[in-house]
Amino acid sequence: GQAIAVLTSGGDSQGMNATLRAIVRCGLYAGAKVFFIREGYQGMIDGGANIEEANSLSVSKIIHKGGTIIGSARCNEFRERSGRLKAAKNLVGNGITNLIVIGGDGSLTGANLFKKEWSSLLEELIRKGEIFSIENTKYSCLSVVGIVGSIDNDFCQTDMTIGTDSALHRIIESIDAIVETASSHQRTFILEVMGRHCGYLALVAGLATEADFIFIPECPPEGDWQLKMCEKLSSHRKAGQRLNIVIVSEGSIDRNGNAITAEMIKNIIVENLNQDTRITVLGHVQRGGRPSAFDRVIGCRMGAEAVMTLTEADPEKIPCVICLEGNQLVRRPLIDCVKDTQAIQKVLNERNWEKVVRLRGDRFGP
Ligand code: ADP
Repeated sequence: GQAIAVLTSGGDSQGMNATLRAIVRCGLYAGAKVFFIREGYQGMIDGGANIEEANSLSVSKIIHKGGTIIGSARCNEFRERSGRLKAAKNLVGNGITNLIVIGGDGSLTGANLFKKEWSSLLEELIRKGEIFSIENTKYSCLSVVGIVGSIDNDFCQTDMTIGTDSALHRIIESIDAIVETASSHQRTFILEVMGRHCGYLALVAGLATEADFIFIPECPPEGDWQLKMCEKLSSHRKAGQRLNIVIVSEGSIDRNGNAITAEMIKNIIVENLNQDTRITVLGHVQRGGRPSAFDRVIGCRMGAEAVMTLTEADPEKIPCVICLEGNQLVRRPLIDCVKDTQAIQKVLNERNWEKVVRLRGDRFGP
């Protein structure tokens, strides 16, 4: 049978455990050995006990838990070829020829690079006498499949990423709670939500909670936005509304690329409207807690699809990312997904807003 290894990398997200469960159970069902690589790429580099064979029981009673039971990490060493060389040696040493990476755009960029370099890493290991050349045939191909775990929904070519729906639930619960207290005291609340390059969480939370004003990185406010915002907030109050809600995505900027922070917005409101204004930074609460039904189910489906991709052994379809299109899972080339995602970040840095909105169009709708 084949040997499939799985790791979770970068920021954790709710639903990663459901994904792990499906990978282990489906992998075993398909007659493969399944290995956990603990602590993301760091565990792949360090090897030893970080690479451990999983069994059916390893993944029981975890589907309802947030985070990832195999640990996640950021790992600078993997950004260097020397780190990736150690990682390759550990995969070969454990007989692993298939790799599933669950992570965000950074992690999948790393996976793409690792796959691209694989044969030259092997050659270097053979040259240095770290592995025998006879092994080269068996290991000449590393099959890589990516699954996007990210609360930000910031990855191109998939409609949803694992964890986004749960994060939204958490945000909405928090805003609902704040609305009750804000309304009692006629306050204005500014909520900072996650999403450094992608305003999806802020935008959708704003829709779902009747927010008065939203700031997202992709669509910086035009003209005298300070005045516009103040007019909008005060007109809502005059119309009888007892509170105001402003949602700001953590990566929000103005048309010149300067950060728009919750603190700035608060000062503007206090100076111009003299409203009792409070800031709530939701922070890691958004990543915490139980995964929603949606995240559990797409985790299960994507995990199973990743295993099927590897065991069907259609090299044409690998390396790929398991993406959600509508309600269908599709396999998209890893390199294209990574390129598109990086292109948005580039266009954001260039402050080409029309193009950003066009590229994000599929996500934000009309
Ligand atoms: P996320 O996957 O959530 O976007 P990061 O951007 O922090 O999180 O990436 C997670 C890890 O993926 C990094 O710590 C690093 O080990 C690896 N990684 C990210 N970008 C690259 C890259 N360009 N080359 C190699 N490895 C990378």
